[in-house]
Amino acid sequence: MTAHSEPATTRTAPADSSENVAAPAPAPAASAENAADPADAFTRLYGRTPEGVWAAPGRVNLIGEYTDFNDGFVMPLALPHTARAAVARRTDGELRLHSADIPGGVVSLRVDELAPHQGHDWAAYPAGVVWALREAGHPVTGADIHLTSTVPTGAGLSSSAALEVVTAFALNDLFGLGLSAAELALLGQRAENDFVGVPCGIMDQMASACCTDGHALYLDTRDLTQRQVPFDLAAHGLRLLVVDTRVKHALGDGAYAERRAACEAGAAALGLRTLRELPYEGLGAALEALARGGADESVVRCVRHVVNENHRVEQVIALLDAGDVGAAGPVLDAGHASLRDDLRVSCPELDLVVSAAVKAGALGARMTGGGFGGSAIVLVDEASADTVAGAVTAAFAAAGYMEPGIFPAVPSAGARRLA
Ligand code: ADP
Ligand code: MG
Repeated sequence: MTAHSEPATTRTAPADSSENVAAPAPAPAASAENAADPADAFTRLYGRTPEGVWAAPGRVNLIGEYTDFNDGFVMPLALPHTARAAVARRTDGELRLHSADIPGGVVSLRVDELAPHQGHDWAAYPAGVVWALREAGHPVTGADIHLTSTVPTGAGLSSSAALEVVTAFALNDLFGLGLSAAELALLGQRAENDFVGVPCGIMDQMASACCTDGHALYLDTRDLTQRQVPFDLAAHGLRLLVVDTRVKHALGDGAYAERRAACEAGAAALGLRTLRELPYEGLGAALEALARGGADESVVRCVRHVVNENHRVEQVIALLDAGDVGAAGPVLDAGHASLRDDLRVSCPELDLVVSAAVKAGALGARMTGGGFGGSAIVLVDEASADTVAGAVTAAFAAAGYMEPGIFPAVPSAGARRLA
């Protein structure tokens, strides 16, 4: 199995940058182990001891892609890879932010001067959480924060949500705010949507905040109803591999907004508030109605994807509940085909992971996350995991692509206090 060894050179830096930061985030190693103790680094940096240390994980989504902004179903699991934060309160209105993973030193901001779209590069994620908390009326009077993360950045594994959620959990504890995990996830999403300016749904923050060890999180994004679904891969002799293609194609950001708009147009044309309200059984008639009404072909395809994808989540839940985990493989394959052909958010690298893995004997595979690069997941029998990983790596070499990062997705705990 291959490990990350070098930063991904093809990943794009965030659009906004500030003088505080010299370079884009390098991709941290795919190892879940974090070498340095963030408390020690905090003490060296700020000259005092932190009041606590918190962790929040990255995630992969097992099934339910491009459904969270349609009030639909998702099913993520947390990775063992986490963002960790050592934090101490301040009362003077200063917010000092530092990341061990970014060159450029401490970013100093004033909490009462935080406003959306100010830039701040990576620091916008934790600063946005402070802004969102204060906007919601919570008395966050400043903090010193040191962050470090093992979640690969820009790999579709939600390193940004991990950063938001770890910051939100830490400030919630230290300032005694008494907010629930779901409320903290929503504030993290608000930070990313309104402060950073990325129009993401709620899945990533909810996964990082609410997942539990050994489970996938079945989440209804309409009302945030959730259920922890046992997902004990080892007990079934299975493994779920994450394959980080280590590419991120620039057209992804615009395409995400376009797909959202197409879904909204589809719902509006059908007289629905969101596509969630269209039942699977009504899909055929709805597609005919859209075609008769002259809807754009891309709208028709997006509607078909979302309704089928919600149905696939329910299929996977039923299989997991029945203990037939391996049978979820073909559902993952169908999900990939739909993201590739209907939603059109895949890319040659992701398609190659899926085709090479399935050809080498995987039970199923699909892209995960927003697409246009990032990561895919591959469900395999434990016995053939190395063969399948080797086949994917060989296929990438033959295609002239960068070596992918491959590691097992062990369903892990959500955000928590460590010290
Ligand atoms: P993803 O969430 O899929 O990893 P995003 O583009 O949403 O990708 O978020 C990646 C961004 O999050 C990075 O460019 C950086 O600004 C920020 N980030 C992630 N991890 C860290 C870290 N360890 N230190 C500082 N910033 C980080
Ligand atoms: Mg992100």
